[in-house]
Amino acid sequence: MLFTDLGLSESILRAINEEGYTSPTPIQEKSIPAVLKGGDLLAAAQTGTGKTAGFTLPILQRLSDSAKPSSGKRQLRVLILTPTRELAAQVQESVVTYGKYTGLKSTVIFGGVGANPQIKAIAAGLDILVATPGRLLDLMSQNCVSLSAIEILVLDEADRMLDMGFLRDIKKILAVLPKQRQNLLFSATFSSEIKALADSLLNSPALIEVARSNSTNEAIAQLIHPVDRTQKHPLLAHLIKSNQWKQVLVFTRTKHGANKLVLQLEKDNITAMAIHGNKSQGARTKALADFKDSKITVLVATDIAARGIDIDQLPHVVNYDLPNVSEDYVHRIGRTGRAGSNGVAVSLVCVDEHEMLRDIEKLIKQKLPQEVIPGFEPDPNAVAQPIQLRSQQHQQNRKPRPSNNGGGSGASKPAAKRSSQPKRSFSR
Ligand code: AMP
Repeated sequence: MLFTDLGLSESILRAINEEGYTSPTPIQEKSIPAVLKGGDLLAAAQTGTGKTAGFTLPILQRLSDSAKPSSGKRQLRVLILTPTRELAAQVQESVVTYGKYTGLKSTVIFGGVGANPQIKAIAAGLDILVATPGRLLDLMSQNCVSLSAIEILVLDEADRMLDMGFLRDIKKILAVLPKQRQNLLFSATFSSEIKALADSLLNSPALIEVARSNSTNEAIAQLIHPVDRTQKHPLLAHLIKSNQWKQVLVFTRTKHGANKLVLQLEKDNITAMAIHGNKSQGARTKALADFKDSKITVLVATDIAARGIDIDQLPHVVNYDLPNVSEDYVHRIGRTGRAGSNGVAVSLVCVDEHEMLRDIEKLIKQKLPQEVIPGFEPDPNAVAQPIQLRSQQHQQNRKPRPSNNGGGSGASKPAAKRSSQPKRSFSR
């Protein structure tokens, strides 16, 4: 199928063409006609599938199709809510890119930066607003934004919004929207909370699913490097230098771990910056921009901060620590091998993480290949130590993994009995 088969206008097709895209991705093939029909939509889609254009393109088309007010100020007709600032900025970038010949106006609002330019942009009149819930509520309480003419609502990465504790905020926003509207809900996973939200929000939605939520992209080569806990940093530096990696996204479990790793890499003359919740918005934007422009080699990120990072053809993702929640492994490695390009995801796994690795392999239904790097052989007698859990707020909403005492193949004790993974159902 080609984009020209989907009933999109010349102005939108022109912008798609300029991006170099000719064929829609599987989710776009399904979501574009569904959204154009005007009904509600429930889509199971992860970042990397092309989901953003999957809703942006038909929304731009619908707005262009329906009559604009002949006089007076533009009314806000579309609201797109995202969990993170980075994702909001990226969605807005897509709206601008694909909408550049439509004459439609949009802006993005999120916290951590001054509100005045955002208030001014809204006051000038807009068709589309991309927002994170907190800043939107803030501006609503100051009567700076009216949602009374919203025709289409998008909840992007709804699962992450709930994980981050935004349910109350979302409900407050929903309460002021016109009852008659089109609702589009995108989520990578379907917990009971997401199902409850979908039930209350959506009216006979079209259901779209493009890939099993926990399947990993086949374009991504995955590899485990077993290593001692204290040798992870030297091993990472060795991998980067010996393979001449130029753009590496590295995940750590904690913000403190991210900062520490940046300092260690800098001592090795490897340029690195961290992106996490304690960094100011300015610092996060700069780190991401420098990374995209290849001014730095390594971007070290925590899971929440990395959500929504969209870099075309990111070649290397490294799990410096395995994620505390297995599903995050799938999200993390989804940053590479995007939209058809090839990527490599390596995980540095020490004895403390053997049980996590087993859980991940169970989730993705795949045994991951292991390769010990000469000079970094792990001590076969090493004993597992408890894993330090994240302190981020969203973690309170997810059942944390208990400390892992033992259980690794190199550990002397048998696997500790522990409760199961957080209750996020993956029935689809
Ligand atoms: P998303 O899942 O929306 O984060 O998009 C993932 C990546 O796929 C982005 O870098 C898009 O620019 C890219 N992309 C979106 N649509 C297409 C397409 N039809 N063909 C190739 N790449 C695409």
